[in-house]
Amino acid sequence: MIEVVSVDEAQPQHDKPNTEDKAIITEGLLRSAALRERRHLNVALVGNPNCGKTSLFNYASGAHAHVGNYSGVTVDASVAEANFYGYSFSLTDLPGTYSLTCYSPEELYVRQHLAEQMPDVVINVVDASNLERNLYLTTQLVDMNVRMVCALNMFDEFERRGDHVNLDTLSTLFGMPMVPTSFKTGMGVKELFKAVIKVYENTQGASRHIHINYGHEIEDGIREIQKFLKADEHIRQRYSTRYLAIKLLENDPNITQYVGQHMADEHRPEDRKQLLAVRNHAAARVLEETASDSETAIMDAKYGFINGALREAGYETGTKENIYRTTHLIDRVLSNKYVGFPIFFFILYVMFQTTFSLGQYPMDWIEAGVEWLGEWIGATMAEGPLRSMLIDGIIGGVGSVIVFLPQILILYFFISLMEDSGYMARAAFIMDKLMHKMGLHGKSFIPLVMGFGCNVPAVMATRTIESQRSRIITMMVLPFMSCSARLPIYIMITGLFFAAEYQSVVMLSLYAVGIFMAAVVSNILSRFVLRGEDMPFVMELPPYRWPTGKAICRHTWEKGKEYLKKMGGVILVASIIVWALGYFGTMGVAPTLADSFIGRMGQIIEPLFALQGFNWQLDVSLIAGVGAKEIVASTMGVLGGFEGVTSLSAYAYLLFVLLYFPCIATIVAIKHETASWRWAVISAVYTTCLAWVVSAVVNQVGSLFLNM
Ligand code: GDP
Ligand code: MG
Repeated sequence: MIEVVSVDEAQPQHDKPNTEDKAIITEGLLRSAALRERRHLNVALVGNPNCGKTSLFNYASGAHAHVGNYSGVTVDASVAEANFYGYSFSLTDLPGTYSLTCYSPEELYVRQHLAEQMPDVVINVVDASNLERNLYLTTQLVDMNVRMVCALNMFDEFERRGDHVNLDTLSTLFGMPMVPTSFKTGMGVKELFKAVIKVYENTQGASRHIHINYGHEIEDGIREIQKFLKADEHIRQRYSTRYLAIKLLENDPNITQYVGQHMADEHRPEDRKQLLAVRNHAAARVLEETASDSETAIMDAKYGFINGALREAGYETGTKENIYRTTHLIDRVLSNKYVGFPIFFFILYVMFQTTFSLGQYPMDWIEAGVEWLGEWIGATMAEGPLRSMLIDGIIGGVGSVIVFLPQILILYFFISLMEDSGYMARAAFIMDKLMHKMGLHGKSFIPLVMGFGCNVPAVMATRTIESQRSRIITMMVLPFMSCSARLPIYIMITGLFFAAEYQSVVMLSLYAVGIFMAAVVSNILSRFVLRGEDMPFVMELPPYRWPTGKAICRHTWEKGKEYLKKMGGVILVASIIVWALGYFGTMGVAPTLADSFIGRMGQIIEPLFALQGFNWQLDVSLIAGVGAKEIVASTMGVLGGFEGVTSLSAYAYLLFVLLYFPCIATIVAIKHETASWRWAVISAVYTTCLAWVVSAVVNQVGSLFLNM
């Protein structure tokens, strides 16, 4: 019960300390400083993927971190502050893990965080509707001997299906308070933090240190190893020796390496050898007596502990409505070998169809508004550069892109719906086999689908892919997933060059070409460039859930907001620049567009795209679009003019836009994620070359057969 405070911390809170003040620190000041310090807790949120950690994090702190119903949304730890009952809490939202072994970066990350940051209290978030599986992680936290509180989350689901468990018994058996919560509604959050405070202050009756009994074969082994570890001062202070002993017995490479390294550092190679001998001896005996290796034996024992505890606490799953059963039924259809695929493509089709047809109405309204604004400015302002800039630059440029906002919101709405309902995880599952054919992973699928929204968060989402090789391949093919920024261009060009009944087919074909290219390129990369085998992994299927309207709206809006920000920023600036380059020429105001700076530039680069049959306006738009793909559309809006372009060239143009240079933001994200410019540059160069070749071939070969 001793709190240490520094001189600075003891200074009165509001006064700026100067050297003279420092001399007079009264006992009262010391006391209040100590109390202040004591009333701040570091709390870590640990739990399986999808159990609601981020929901709690957001609810308690008012933050807006992304929640989603599939594993791997949280890859880094984020920290936020919360206040309850006069205490302040630093909450750390850790990545979701099923276990604390060291098979994945997430597991190691969580383990390291707990060992190094030593949070005051851990909140173990447990999905109460899947108790047995979730408590597995809890048993490992018990081994680590951290102070914790268990949040039995999804308690609404638990009650809805009529499950039952005696919470007091379960709390006692696990030696920690268990608080029923629902982070969807905020139920139990206050009680949870009350329990956290009590555990911290050591006034919670249910909190005690328990040992999971692994049975005498394993316990003997643990004891022997522990005896050895206890002699080591450094190790004893840093870790629970029981935990280390269990990990050593499990043959955990990371812990074995850590202990070995420590002994080597202290020049005790003999001790190290002896420890390994003790460990191997214990493991051999476990194998002899239980007929399974010690890792499996320990896992079995943990499940034995959980099942025993659950039985004693009278755990029963209800029959009223079992979401796992419902889930199972739905899955029989949606993840079915034969109909899963068609359903998936049907859903995608509905998604795009709705996006375009429903989006048409608000789009027309916004378009009318933009047009009216242009006419009004045209009628009220005097002729001159300013009027031209407003009408041709800003309204022409930003206006031609902003009309797509409704469609982008609808698209994001669907993506959010798929994520939050749990369907996205099924889609990944359905796609797994196919992804393997591409040399990828089912896990790569989620970033790829996210790529339809925006490539930048998708590049970041590749972090959940364990294998570095799969990760890089995924990043390399991601830009072929047609992001929403390309939508305005597609809609503009298809609207101009294709009859209404062909427009959605043309659009769909672009998405298909993108996916096809991704498949071809990842196949080539995995076969010839980045060869190697991937680790096997489990893909969890979370239960289906009705997503809350609030979550969907927030999620959709967050992305829509990014779009609007881009309008007001880079697209506005680009539109003005393009306008200025088109308005002025070497002799001041240019008499015609062709005499302007941009016209000259276009004519210079025109030969580059002769094979594709683009005109100079299209060429210039492509160059401008390197910053962000929307700028292609806004530039076309400013420049206008599609003379001499055939429908075939227009299609080649769409292909070029689909395939070429991912925007600057994506390149930077790839650089950031791979920690080198190498892959970022490769990505920029090869996609542009591919785009050039494909569009040239399509236009040249196509014109042999078609007369469009
Ligand atoms: P994390 O992976 O642990 O961070 O989990 P999230 O916070 O992202 O939540 C996963 C999903 O479960 C989201 O769709 C949440 O809206 C939903 N969810 C979270 N808490 C509850 C709850 O108490 N009840 C129900 N029914 N759903 C919840
Ligand atoms: Mg999360």
